[in-house]
Amino acid sequence: MTQPMTDSALSARLMDGTAVARRIAERTAARAAALTERTGATPCLATVLVGEDPASVTYVRMKRNRCEKAGIRSRHVPLPAATTTEELIATLTALSADPEVHGILLQHPAGPHIDERAAFEAIAPEKDVDGVTMRSFAAMGFALPGFASCTPGGIMRLLDAYDVDPTGKRAVVVGRSAILGKPVGMMLLARDATVTYCHSRTQDLSSLVREADILVAAVGRPEFIKGADIKPGAVVVDAGYNPGNVGDVEFTAAAERASLITPVPGGVGPMTIAVLLEQTLDAAERQLGVTAGA
Ligand code: NAP
Repeated sequence: MTQPMTDSALSARLMDGTAVARRIAERTAARAAALTERTGATPCLATVLVGEDPASVTYVRMKRNRCEKAGIRSRHVPLPAATTTEELIATLTALSADPEVHGILLQHPAGPHIDERAAFEAIAPEKDVDGVTMRSFAAMGFALPGFASCTPGGIMRLLDAYDVDPTGKRAVVVGRSAILGKPVGMMLLARDATVTYCHSRTQDLSSLVREADILVAAVGRPEFIKGADIKPGAVVVDAGYNPGNVGDVEFTAAAERASLITPVPGGVGPMTIAVLLEQTLDAAERQLGVTAGA
């Protein structure tokens, strides 16, 4: 990691998630081609979407397009908005038992009337390529092998790509959602960072942000983190994505103080999809009895 500097005029380098994700996707595509050549089977991700929320429709379309480019088949299962939890569980249970499906993605949010936890748990752990089941979460907590939640997994891969070593660093994670804030903090802890979580009840958030050598913003509020609070030389990861392509960090002011910073878009977002594809390949290889590189 770049050493913290005292020069407040420091200009940050961008962490180019698009470029890093492209490299991961290229390796995944090569593995997919090798797997198909060897077994005759095409890796397959099932995407399940309840309702027609425009953002969710777009996210699923993007994920399916990337699958296609990487030689991964996607089987889309659109369900009406009125689908019950029981019906959704039945669909996920059937996909879990289908030998032609290697990974399952239930697009979140599934709708206010759905018991999302119960639905996620209907995904077979070996097909949980989005890292949403309790078993995957526990593996992240214990730092054991397992499927990572894709956005936190993507953030860690991005830090690695830029040689950011979390060991001994003060990491501050703003946000504690089960899919993002909480697991990324667990992963940073597993890599020996000293982790502080902030959330809506945190008092004097600014002073905590100012201590961060590594800051992860996962709030969902445009420019919520002020540039003036960024510690000079800090590494800033902005996972937020708000309308108008705006992140959770005041980008321009933060970039004057940080050593490394993710752009929005083009930072964390592409990494999320890259990890989803890679984990789908991991799942397919395991289910087809082929180990990577074999
Ligand atoms: P979420 O479930 O709404 O969680 C937001 C978190 O922010 C909560 O923990 C909440 O605290 C905290 N928070 C809200 N207001 C706060 C405040 N005033 N001060 C401090 N903390 C506050 O959101 P999410 O699903 O984690 O997503 C967060 C952002 O990341 C969104 O912009 C989303 O679009 C983006 N995202 C991006 C990707 C990607 O692939 N790039 C993937 C997922 C999410 P409480 O727990 O106390 O309520």
